[in-house]
Amino acid sequence: MAGLACFDFDWSLIDTDSDRFVIQSLSPELRRKLDTSPMQWTDLQNECLKDFYDQGGSGQVVRDALTKVPLDPDMIKACQLLHAKGWTLVIVSDANSIYIDGILQHYGIKQLFSAVITNPAFWDSQDRLHIQRLIPADAPPHGCPLGICSLNICKGQEIDKLQKQLRQQNSANKADGSTAENFAPSQRMLYVGDGRNDYCPALRMQSSQDIYFVRKGRSLEAYLEKSAPNIRDAIKARIILWTRAADILKVVQEIA
Ligand SMILES: [Mg+2]
Ligand SMILES: [Zn+2]
Repeated sequence: MAGLACFDFDWSLIDTDSDRFVIQSLSPELRRKLDTSPMQWTDLQNECLKDFYDQGGSGQVVRDALTKVPLDPDMIKACQLLHAKGWTLVIVSDANSIYIDGILQHYGIKQLFSAVITNPAFWDSQDRLHIQRLIPADAPPHGCPLGICSLNICKGQEIDKLQKQLRQQNSANKADGSTAENFAPSQRMLYVGDGRNDYCPALRMQSSQDIYFVRKGRSLEAYLEKSAPNIRDAIKARIILWTRAADILKVVQEIA
């Protein structure tokens, strides 16, 4: 029984934080700015890339950095296996579309993913990379009642939208007799995450058949261990703590 497999990107699909990794490879000085500025995170990324460009930095250096981002071969195997078993793979991330695209392409796994929900980014005609917030600063706020989601993205609401889209596609496919890949809303869900903003989407998993892969030693695990008992109790999915991609691959090999 396949379903929807959602991956956070930084420290989940890949073994680093892509924002910090790229800026660090551009300039240690910009990395210091990144670690110390109070500016909103996505705006700060954009600002650091602007500084780099203003200092004469080339877009190629950014693209080269993307090819050095570590991704565990077992994570690739887990994604390939899920895809082969008929799961719909998606990424829900607070990184940006250019980094994610570049890294997936470098590892040759872009075609495995049906959707990438993240902050939009683009190269301008001067070969400078711009990164924007998924929810712009002047747009209505997402209003998630949890209060732990980032200003620019509530991954829970993004998963809601995605599931609605997939259901619509599914009924459209049925209506025209198409044999295209179908997605039934009753199917299972699995979610791979490591950060506090990976908590909200996990509330969309309503069954003990669903699996919540929580990375050990990172902020999501600490959040789940908070003394407030309703935090962990609200999770209906089976929680599996993981350290390496091999832990996920092992579970993926066992599920249908
Ligand atoms: Mg993460
Ligand atoms: Zn939320």
